[in-house]
Amino acid sequence: MSRLDFQLEATAAGSRARAARFRTQHNEVLTPTFMPVGTHASVRTQRRDDLLGCGVQVLLANTYHLLLRPGVELFEQFGGIHRFMNWPRSVLTDSGGFQIYSLPGSRSMQEDGAIFKSYVDGSTICLSPERSIATQKAIGADIMMVLDQCVPSTVEKDVARAAMELTHRWAERSLIARGDSLQALFGIVQGACYADLRVASARTVAQLPFDGFAIGGLAVGEKVGEREACTEVVTELLPRDRPRYLMGVGTPLDLLEAVHRGVDMFDCILPTALAKQGLAFTGKGRVDLRRAAYRDKEGPLDPECGCYTCKTYSQAYLFHLIRVHESHGWQLLGLHNIHFYMQLMRAMRKSILAGTWRDFYRARREVLDARDSYGPKSMRNSNVERRQRKLQAGRYEVVVRDSVGRIRDKESGEVMHSVNDPAEEARSLYVEQSRLTERLQMNITEPLVVWDVGLGAAANAMATIQAVEAMNSVDRAGKLLLVSFENDLDSLKLALRHRRWFRHLKHAAPDQLLADNRWMSSDGSIEWLLLPGDFAARKFEAPPPEIIFFDPFSFKTDSHLWTLASFRELHSLCNDRATELFTYTYSTAVRAAMLAAGFYVAKGRATGPKEETTIGLSPIAARGKHGRELLGAEWLLRWSRSEAQAPFGVSADDESWRAAVRGHPQFRLQRTEDL
Ligand SMILES: [Zn+2]
Repeated sequence: MSRLDFQLEATAAGSRARAARFRTQHNEVLTPTFMPVGTHASVRTQRRDDLLGCGVQVLLANTYHLLLRPGVELFEQFGGIHRFMNWPRSVLTDSGGFQIYSLPGSRSMQEDGAIFKSYVDGSTICLSPERSIATQKAIGADIMMVLDQCVPSTVEKDVARAAMELTHRWAERSLIARGDSLQALFGIVQGACYADLRVASARTVAQLPFDGFAIGGLAVGEKVGEREACTEVVTELLPRDRPRYLMGVGTPLDLLEAVHRGVDMFDCILPTALAKQGLAFTGKGRVDLRRAAYRDKEGPLDPECGCYTCKTYSQAYLFHLIRVHESHGWQLLGLHNIHFYMQLMRAMRKSILAGTWRDFYRARREVLDARDSYGPKSMRNSNVERRQRKLQAGRYEVVVRDSVGRIRDKESGEVMHSVNDPAEEARSLYVEQSRLTERLQMNITEPLVVWDVGLGAAANAMATIQAVEAMNSVDRAGKLLLVSFENDLDSLKLALRHRRWFRHLKHAAPDQLLADNRWMSSDGSIEWLLLPGDFAARKFEAPPPEIIFFDPFSFKTDSHLWTLASFRELHSLCNDRATELFTYTYSTAVRAAMLAAGFYVAKGRATGPKEETTIGLSPIAARGKHGRELLGAEWLLRWSRSEAQAPFGVSADDESWRAAVRGHPQFRLQRTEDL
């Protein structure tokens, strides 16, 4: 029977939300619970004592990374991870399947296991179900996971089915490999977003004698609604007497929705990853500490929070630390966010046990995803100011030159498309260069997904739509899915009030988009979606792109979007497809960040006074016939002599990017070709 002695304590009326407890070899775990991610046997920037103080019951560690470094022998020497990192409570290890799927580098899936190259020493490693379990045994995890084959949740059905069936065969081998060990083992339900595959997978895996069940392969490209539907289908079929774990999810609102659908356990990097960008979760919703409104704000981040950060520091101080990229700011916000997650899980548990879940769920659902608003509006009033205010909204104002309107960010003074006509730049740099109309002439079954990062006044989006509308309908074989990201819609609202200066907006689409976050052309061949809010978080909800128009404000205004970490996340999202990213800058630091993140980098076309722009290619795109001019040895030499070598947002003690740029395969390739 189960090694965890799982006890179901209560299930909420009118919901599948449940409270339970189980016992591992190290402690009792009360659910629902959240498990912070300690990839390399450490939760980034967080001290062990703070994690214990927050009430963390289980830590998640990554088998794939720990297998490569420090390696199994070290865990054998220390008798396991608990003594190695001096962690007294439970540890859950993933199997390595997700990392093999998501990290750059070559890999192949075979019946026996996954074969991949070590990023540490380049050696070839075969991770079979047996090797994964042996590694997790040596690590000494309280809860081990079976090796699974992850695929993007939006893949074709045949691919999803094959991955699911392989995962089932590996599940049985994992159970045999576990043997009599007292360590618990969870099975994983796969099946992408196909309800019938999810049902088949849940039924198959639920029949095996696992100690708990995980729902895998979500949070990798599907829409939130799809994820929730998949979760619901699966939890209905899983045994009630064992824990259920939704892997890699999510925001506080995602957790609330999943608990409502019967999930008990979660892990996610968001609390610390978003902290690094200056984002915090509070009882009143999300707070973005990069906003100028917090510059001089006294008082704690969240008056209802009892964490060290909130008890000790003002918002103004946290704003300052984030502003100057102090790692201390990252640590303090990370601590607060983990505290917030743990507190939220305890509050959910309490309300389930008290029989008040429905009210709790409804009330929290309203506020968990709320966003803070920008700073106070001016209260002064005169005719001149009233007239000027018409040309302003929030932090933006309209600047008119040669009868063409542009948007200026008042805080930084930066003007979007300051030199060129925005419509012309959109056509040349983004629409034409990406060859999207040529791609739509090909007979493609899936829509061509184009991401428009930094909607602004919709110059790029409307240039795209107008180019597709201008195509002969006979030529237009494929459909276009255009996804715009924007954290502040005031610029578009402002431009729409002044269409005479923003002629590209004389079209029904932008108004419809603002009203519904969605517009569809009358013949159904173009769908335009708007994902408002932070690109950093929302990009995970969008279908992965073939083309990215990367056109936010520059580093001084939208700093977080240009960092190495941001490009790494982008890279992992398009790692399994041929994606090209187009951006207006050719800054050395940005190119270095893209290279260090794993993109191949090519010269983009000139525009106005700029002699070059930049194109990033995913490894798969780089392997294909792309016809782009990749940067070569000459650029590498210029970079090595440059004052601005470092990508934005790297700390002084992290030099790993340097080797990644220098050793990037695009320079190696060229060298062998030259020979
Ligand atoms: Zn706090």
